[in-house]
Amino acid sequence: MAEENQELPAREAMEFDVVIVGAGPSGLAAAIKLKQLSPETTVVVLEKGSEVGAHILSGAVVDPVGINALIPDWKSDDTAPFKTEVKDDHFYYMTKSGAIRVPNFLMPPLMNNHGNYITSLGNVCRWLASRAEALGVEIYPTFAASEVLFDEQGAVKGVATGDKGIGRDGKPTSHYERGIELHGKYTFFAEGARGSLSKQLIAKFGLAKNSEPQKFGIGLKELWKVAPGKHKPGLVQHSFGWPLDNNTGGGSFLYHMEDEQVMVGFVVHLNYKNPYIAPFEEFQRFKTHPSVRGTFEGGKRLSYGARAITEGGFQSVPKLVFPGGALVGCAAGFINLPRIKGSHNAVLTGMMAAEEAVKALQSGRQRDELTGYEEGWRSSQVGSDLKKVRNVKPLWSKFGLYIGMMLGGFDMWTNTLFGFSFFGTQGHGKTDAESLEPAAKHQKIDYPKPDGVISFDKLGSVFISNTNHEENQPIHLHVKNMELQKQSEHDVYAGPSNRYCPAGVYEWVEEPSGPRFQINAQNCVHCKTCDIKDPNQNINWVTPEGGGGPNYPNM
Ligand SMILES: Cc1cc2nc3c(=O)[nH]c(=O)nc-3n(C[C@H](O)[C@H](O)[C@H](O)COP(=O)(O)OP(=O)(O)OC[C@H]3O[C@@H](n4cnc5c(N)ncnc54)[C@H](O)[C@@H]3O)c2cc1C
Ligand code: SF4
Repeated sequence: MAEENQELPAREAMEFDVVIVGAGPSGLAAAIKLKQLSPETTVVVLEKGSEVGAHILSGAVVDPVGINALIPDWKSDDTAPFKTEVKDDHFYYMTKSGAIRVPNFLMPPLMNNHGNYITSLGNVCRWLASRAEALGVEIYPTFAASEVLFDEQGAVKGVATGDKGIGRDGKPTSHYERGIELHGKYTFFAEGARGSLSKQLIAKFGLAKNSEPQKFGIGLKELWKVAPGKHKPGLVQHSFGWPLDNNTGGGSFLYHMEDEQVMVGFVVHLNYKNPYIAPFEEFQRFKTHPSVRGTFEGGKRLSYGARAITEGGFQSVPKLVFPGGALVGCAAGFINLPRIKGSHNAVLTGMMAAEEAVKALQSGRQRDELTGYEEGWRSSQVGSDLKKVRNVKPLWSKFGLYIGMMLGGFDMWTNTLFGFSFFGTQGHGKTDAESLEPAAKHQKIDYPKPDGVISFDKLGSVFISNTNHEENQPIHLHVKNMELQKQSEHDVYAGPSNRYCPAGVYEWVEEPSGPRFQINAQNCVHCKTCDIKDPNQNINWVTPEGGGGPNYPNM
């Protein structure tokens, strides 16, 4: 939230009724709803990716409840990317060599995936963007919102996009272009998990002071074209257990989409204690399990990526509104963790915020709090979706895999059947950064070498994420105190950034003068894990030049 630099030329400003930061499902749903309710409302959406969808990484099995509400006639649109309905739904507990299927009748009904669609959320966003543009929404990809702007009363008045063409030394280069200001009567922050501006707003307006700390996981994913005969369109598989131990939360997903494509992914909860854990290696190891590797043998890996996922749920959602704007979607955190689903709630919260903004605009209001959105969400279907599962994550964190999962399952049943929990509402305790323990308390983990067939190394993986950043630009990963990084992150925690970063951005290079923290910023896939998990909260992720980052095809 820096003040405008007086030495640079003034920025041009554009005026809109509503400015939306982020073209994910929440931002695009908000844009569409605004135009449906009030076609004359002017709406702009900014997206930091090279195109809409370029930075979207999800499962995804989508509960259509959100899309049904937003675009009720979507089934008559041939371009709607919901082609594969879930036909089979399997849940496994994995041991090192076996996989025990949990019978579906033991699973609480809310975990049932029948009626949902297996799709690429990136493609869903591309489709939503075309629907939004048809309604007159202006969408600007390659524009990263890098600053929040305030009016004299302290209300949010919009955002500014980052300057382009600034060199590594911080000085303008020959292709320098000043950022622009986008002013709105309301500004929605739809940046997804750990949004960089949303984080600043949560701190500035104290939005999280009455909620539990937000919790996160890191989700890693690959898209495969599998060999003919291995493809079972409509099959959804989830697992927990191996390769993670009893004290580390997480699990896998494997979704068979259309066109012989299978999406495989692995989530590691970021409250893990052992700094030697490497989520990327856990994922690679998972694919070599005897019950999993067969699916991929003879196939081709098409894409790789990673993204943080919010896990705090009902009790971690911050206050959603502040003067001049609102948080929507995963910028606030509406994931139903046991279902690993958030896109439906992203759409629904985008719509709710839009409805409140239209009411406000029509009554001549601007830049105040959209209190109806804040007051309404807990009693909406989003609130009821999240409330039933609110104790699953804290029980897992407190009691470990076996007891935690059993208690969590029992709690989902009592919540579903009787709307009641024996556990009340459990807290989450520490933040994910605080959960990490010194390396001296843990053993190194000896991960197997990649075989180049089923499992791969990190740099080869980043290569197929098509990640690209202008190299001559300031590093967008700000280490606030380099001495602290050395004394604590390196000396006490044994450099976990090298292991939790899924893109090989961080390295400790041993030199005669001592270890040097090297940041290969051009590899960053914008997952935000460093911003979450650094034990001292000493790394701050800020937007790089717009258009940089991964270029996911259909992730
Ligand atoms: C591994 C994984 C698996 C998942 N599986 C499922 C699933 O199966 N089903 C399901 O329903 N949900 C799933 N989810 C959750 C789902 O992806 C999210 O709930 C959903 O994407 C949230 O939508 P959003 O619009 O809030 O944010 P996002 O989808 O994250 O979109 C945010 C957009 O804003 C852009 N942006 C961010 N900051 C800026 C900025 N400052 N300036 C400009 N643009 C910006 C980003 O580039 C991005 O395009 C999964 C998530 C992960 C990580
Ligand atoms: S540098 Fe941070 S945000 Fe970028 S890929 Fe690594 S952990 Fe993710």
